[in-house]
Amino acid sequence: MIIRPKIRGFICITAHPEGCEKNILEQINYIKSQDEISDSPKKILVIGSSTGYGLASRIVASFGCKADTIGVYFERPEVDGKPASAGFYNARALDKFSQAEGRVSESINGDAFSDEIKQITIEQIQKNLGKVDCIIYSLASPRRTDPLSGETYKSVLKPIGTVFSGKTVNTDTEQVLEISIDPATEEEIEATQKVMGGEDWERWIDQLLAANVLAKNVRTYAYSYIGPEVTWPIYAHGTIGKAKDHLEQSAKVIHNKLKNLGGEAAISVNKAVVTQASSAIPVVPLYNSVLFKIMKQKEIHEGCIEQIYRLFSSHFNANRDERGRIRLDNLEMRDDVQREVKEIWSEISTENLRELSDFEGYKNEFLRLFGFGITGVDYERDIKIL
Ligand code: NAD
Repeated sequence: MIIRPKIRGFICITAHPEGCEKNILEQINYIKSQDEISDSPKKILVIGSSTGYGLASRIVASFGCKADTIGVYFERPEVDGKPASAGFYNARALDKFSQAEGRVSESINGDAFSDEIKQITIEQIQKNLGKVDCIIYSLASPRRTDPLSGETYKSVLKPIGTVFSGKTVNTDTEQVLEISIDPATEEEIEATQKVMGGEDWERWIDQLLAANVLAKNVRTYAYSYIGPEVTWPIYAHGTIGKAKDHLEQSAKVIHNKLKNLGGEAAISVNKAVVTQASSAIPVVPLYNSVLFKIMKQKEIHEGCIEQIYRLFSSHFNANRDERGRIRLDNLEMRDDVQREVKEIWSEISTENLRELSDFEGYKNEFLRLFGFGITGVDYERDIKIL
């Protein structure tokens, strides 16, 4: 079949296998063009490894650190003649390229929140890696079923306390609009924390510890975001921000649990990038379009792969703040960058969207997530789907 992008709101429901593979190869080549990372972890588990920051983590681990890796993700395979989700093709390509260079590269496709997938992962570690010396926790999910209670929680992206009114862009119609979002209920705040807080991260570490598959000096990092004032009502001060506060508390709890092993747990605050998860957050696509224009002009623009290379090559010590968090968002948060964001933000409208922001770049990056718009891919070629 000929596979074309089919966009529904903030998601593309098709993905191109060759485009995804080429996208992975480009990221691998970027890592190969950088210095090899010395003194790095060698047995790495990435939870949430098929797209975005988790995918970049696995690529850096495999090709920058030359580490053996296991990746856990939740993706749709090809069924009934329909293409798989992008993450499925990404993971398949990554395993192929990593294994070709002699590394262990195993993928587990299933619900990382379940105890069943945790046990399967432990068995894979015992079989293929022995122990792991680094765990990256990079899940972004709209729901989680608590394995203890069986209850399913849904996360929401809402402000807390007051109604939020602000600018956003409808990425289909390219209109800049004022939106208004009602504050979350107490139940929604709690549910978002259940999904995107640190409870599951801690459960992973507990089960890995109990199975004795964590190496001495093991380290674990979970990703977070803070961002500037224009996004605070919907992000840092909203339901997702509250969940990220919980994630940070969990880092402390996990850190203490790893003390006997001389290990570390910490948060890495990463910059805003285009991913499937971030595309779903109101305000963020417009903010990203403005931010990218400014960061590209200043030649400090980074995507997931550049950010995560910085994380690993700094030996997880890039710009620690007073709370011990790694701050990969230092360039995004620079005063001159944010001053310019603020200026543009007050002026941006449907009429000047393409002039004042890098909306074109945003859209291109969005399509690339699904394997479209990649140079060298023949999109007219008939692709065989199972
Ligand atoms: P993403 O949507 O690209 O990736 C999410 C990953 O989680 C995928 O691999 C997906 O398969 C996996 N996943 C989702 N539900 C799962 C489940 N039940 N079981 C197993 N795997 C599951 O998201 P992303 O933007 O890369 O986000 C990853 C982390 O980075 C999040 O914690 C996010 O808050 C953080 N972060 C993102 C940004 C950004 O701008 N995108 C910025 C800073 C921090």
